[in-house]
Amino acid sequence: MAAARRGACVSIARARRLFFSCAVARSTERAASEDDARGSPSFAIPDGAPFFLGKTDASGRGLFASRAIARGELILRAPPLVAHPALDAIADVCYACLRRIPSATAQTRDDGSGPKKPAPVAAEVPDGARFCGERCATDASARFHAWERSVGDALAPLRRRCEDHGGLKFPLLAARLAFAVLSSSVAARDADALCRVNFPPGVAPEDWLEEHAMLKVALSRGLAIRRLADARGGGTGGGGGGGGGDAQLAAAASDREREARVVDGALTPEWYVGVVGRMHLNAFRVEIPAIVDGGRGGGGAGAGGCGHEHGGERGGERGGERVSSSSAFRDAMEAALSSVASGRGTGSALYGLPSMLNHSCDPSVDAAWTYGDATLVLTARRDVAAGEELRISR
Ligand SMILES: [Zn+2]
Repeated sequence: MAAARRGACVSIARARRLFFSCAVARSTERAASEDDARGSPSFAIPDGAPFFLGKTDASGRGLFASRAIARGELILRAPPLVAHPALDAIADVCYACLRRIPSATAQTRDDGSGPKKPAPVAAEVPDGARFCGERCATDASARFHAWERSVGDALAPLRRRCEDHGGLKFPLLAARLAFAVLSSSVAARDADALCRVNFPPGVAPEDWLEEHAMLKVALSRGLAIRRLADARGGGTGGGGGGGGGDAQLAAAASDREREARVVDGALTPEWYVGVVGRMHLNAFRVEIPAIVDGGRGGGGAGAGGCGHEHGGERGGERGGERVSSSSAFRDAMEAALSSVASGRGTGSALYGLPSMLNHSCDPSVDAAWTYGDATLVLTARRDVAAGEELRISR
């Protein structure tokens, strides 16, 4: 039954998977039974969720309906494990949640004053980073951005490399994950449960190792800046609270020791190659329409066209499929078409449980950025029977 429904397109996906030598079955067993996914909120199945993680015949693991699910029913609302705006969208979206915000260029154009202000170039980030609101900025600061600010322009070489290579996304997504790990908002091994790329021992893409070296320079610089700030008594937000000078210094020193251990011991070249490989297989290209109707947009699953079971963002050219009003539909289509033209989207994101969904050309589940930010919302595309595997078009 499942095989018939999957049809010919899945054989392409299978070939692709073999090409990447992805050890789906092994990683599935580990995700389902061992520690990789345990303790990571991204892989925790919410109480009352209408699905469970199980094994499939072909793909190793998948999500299955634990009861009958009615068409249109909400299945999961998944915040990203990590998300990053596309380089050419940085001026237009929130640096943290990817919500679209009025761009500086649009504002200048609207009030008709002066020449059109050029969009901030990537190298100006993080100083040029914009957030959708105070709350998002504060939240981002705690999760990754305070650390990123410590690094300052030391990340510019990695950004330039991404720009020079046609808008590479995964190095910046990996850098953000590194900042999140250093900020203790994500564990270094949180992404381990995701399907991975297996390289022969001792062999990893040279490009990725170079990118890691650039990231390492930036992280070491960030660590030095934070130590300097401690010594000057300025603090970095990491050290203990309002205690006396000595206690505060000791807490900060202990924080810096932990961070140094993370930089040298956890965020290694092997870690980088592992997460970037997983991003190639699991990342979604986030598509948020330019205009979000009443706060609820209709960005559709942009992770891939038909035939990309683990397509990640390499394959994705599909825009919104399930939008309520005609204007929202038009916006979704325009956003999808413009992203096809540029080959980019609003951004990229890595999710936990949604990455466990297998592909189907006749999917039972819609994946969309319904809330206008990087939160991925899964809803039933049609009635689903208890026990049926949940599948999306990726
Ligand atoms: Zn935001």
